[in-house]
Amino acid sequence: MKNIAVLTSGGDAPGMNACIRSIVRTASYKNIEVYGIQYGYQGLIENNLKIITNKDVGNTIHIGGTILKTARSDEFRLKKGRDKAYQNLKKNNIDGLIVLGGDGSLTGAKIFGDENKFPVIGIPCTIDNDLYGSDYSIGFASARETVVDAVDKIRDTAASHERIFIVEVMGRESGYLALESGIASGAEMILIPENKKEIKDVITDIKKINEEKKSIIIIYAEGCKLGRLDKISKKISKSIPGSNVRYSILGHIQRGGTAVPSDRILGTILGYKSVDSILNGEKNMMVGLVENKCLLTPLKEIINKERGINKEIMNISKIISNY
Ligand code: ATP
Repeated sequence: MKNIAVLTSGGDAPGMNACIRSIVRTASYKNIEVYGIQYGYQGLIENNLKIITNKDVGNTIHIGGTILKTARSDEFRLKKGRDKAYQNLKKNNIDGLIVLGGDGSLTGAKIFGDENKFPVIGIPCTIDNDLYGSDYSIGFASARETVVDAVDKIRDTAASHERIFIVEVMGRESGYLALESGIASGAEMILIPENKKEIKDVITDIKKINEEKKSIIIIYAEGCKLGRLDKISKKISKSIPGSNVRYSILGHIQRGGTAVPSDRILGTILGYKSVDSILNGEKNMMVGLVENKCLLTPLKEIINKERGINKEIMNISKIISNY
């Protein structure tokens, strides 16, 4: 194997750059050239790639986002698009592909690898932390840090005005970000999609908490689907006379910002491991860190198995937040 390629796909996640840097430097150590594909799978279809060197990745370990840019590609979902992508890899004498991304990107990686018998290694990158095969995905710890920082600030004003604050965090399918940032910020209530609740039960719980304290922080994962936050806020206000309800949608700030040290370290370890694995002949695998050990799991398992929420942590959060 002489040349490999790397791309970032789907949602960006802080720590992707630390991972790309590690891939390039590991490959260089092993005398392999790395092609950086710009704009994910779409860039591969359009042959948008160039060699990246050790120097190119200097001073990038801390930077959020991805220096390779990312994109979503509908063309890659079709066999015709994937065929074009394969032709471009062959044209550039590339013998292996490393894909950084979430569930969708790794699904695409698996299909592409199977279809073309081409060595592909996936690296888990998603602030949702919803992938099987790794205790943590790159980007999660940084997003958690951002959410906790924001909630700490919101709490100051919530406490001063004795307000009930609903803070919406990212997580359409998974409540990991809500759960861990809720615990770390001392939220009174954490609402996640894995633990579905009716709005009437939520209001009953808030009433109970409200008997003890007026300032309440509710962390709300976007996938809870209890309705629009302005409507939920009004319902709570109406049900609890004298309550002072506000909401805040944190939105895209959760994706940005410098990568925290644990994401830089995770990115560095998984980047190294991905190159090492592909050179050892591994294919259609994802590298992950499980109980502090680097493990390879077939992409087939990654996309078919649910990670699920950690029930023990969920129970602890309920006891501690006191509802
Ligand atoms: P995030 O977790 O941040 O949403 P993701 O990797 O899950 O990231 P997606 O938008 O789901 O993001 O997928 C990224 C890209 O992966 C898609 O735009 C598409 O090009 C490719 N992809 C996703 N699913 C498939 C599929 N079933 N077949 C082929 N390619 C796919």
